[in-house]
Amino acid sequence: MRIDILTIFPGMFEGPFNDSIIKRARERNKVAIHLHDIREYTRDKHRRVDDYSYGGGAGMVMMVEPIARCIETLKAERTYDEIIYTAPDGELFEQSEANRLSTLTNIIILCGRYKGIDERLRENYITKELSIGNYVLSGGELPAAVISDSIIRLLPGVLNNETSALSDSFQSNLVSPPVYTRPYDYKGMRVPDVLLSGNDKKIDEWRLDQAIKRTKERRPDLLPDEDKFYR
Ligand code: SAH
Repeated sequence: MRIDILTIFPGMFEGPFNDSIIKRARERNKVAIHLHDIREYTRDKHRRVDDYSYGGGAGMVMMVEPIARCIETLKAERTYDEIIYTAPDGELFEQSEANRLSTLTNIIILCGRYKGIDERLRENYITKELSIGNYVLSGGELPAAVISDSIIRLLPGVLNNETSALSDSFQSNLVSPPVYTRPYDYKGMRVPDVLLSGNDKKIDEWRLDQAIKRTKERRPDLLPDEDKFYR
């Protein structure tokens, strides 16, 4: 998979993309991440990428031209399955969308700044708008890193234990059951005995029960038809 990220702050990705699972995915050639500095695509001699908002009011707007030129340059080189803009008013990003995006070949993620991007870009170039939550950040770089991380860890051969992503929260409309590791007894706080029983069937049942209980308590909104599926 190839991910092209358009940003005016490429340096912001050095941390999230150069450690741990994403680093390993890149080293194993499971993903190629290309960062593009939007300023490289402006013809303005001061390399400006933003301008005042038509109609007045506070805040600058990202200009059409440099972003359009960057997208057009990339589209001339290959076909993109999705051109994503990170936006607080976009569709709420969820696991199901991460799953879908992880099956694609080439995607672009455009990171907004200031008051956002000129509406004509949204109308004519963007194919998908994603919000990572109902709050406003100062730029799309963190959302782009969040979206990329959630996709990359799903690519085959990235996580060492292939089944591990499948048992994560949300994959079955349930949150994860609690997990424990050694020691068995920490200052009198003990691990549930079933987990030491060696009985895989019992352990699976216990984990499913716990997942259902937790989802009902903490995230009942995830259960689409509670009575039918989990009674
Ligand atoms: N004026 C805009 C907010 C601009 S914030 C509004 O009210 O909708 C600047 C940029 O940060 C946005 O263009 C977007 O790319 C990014 N951003 C901020 N919050 C975000 C969120 N919750 N999800 C995705 N992107 C976000």
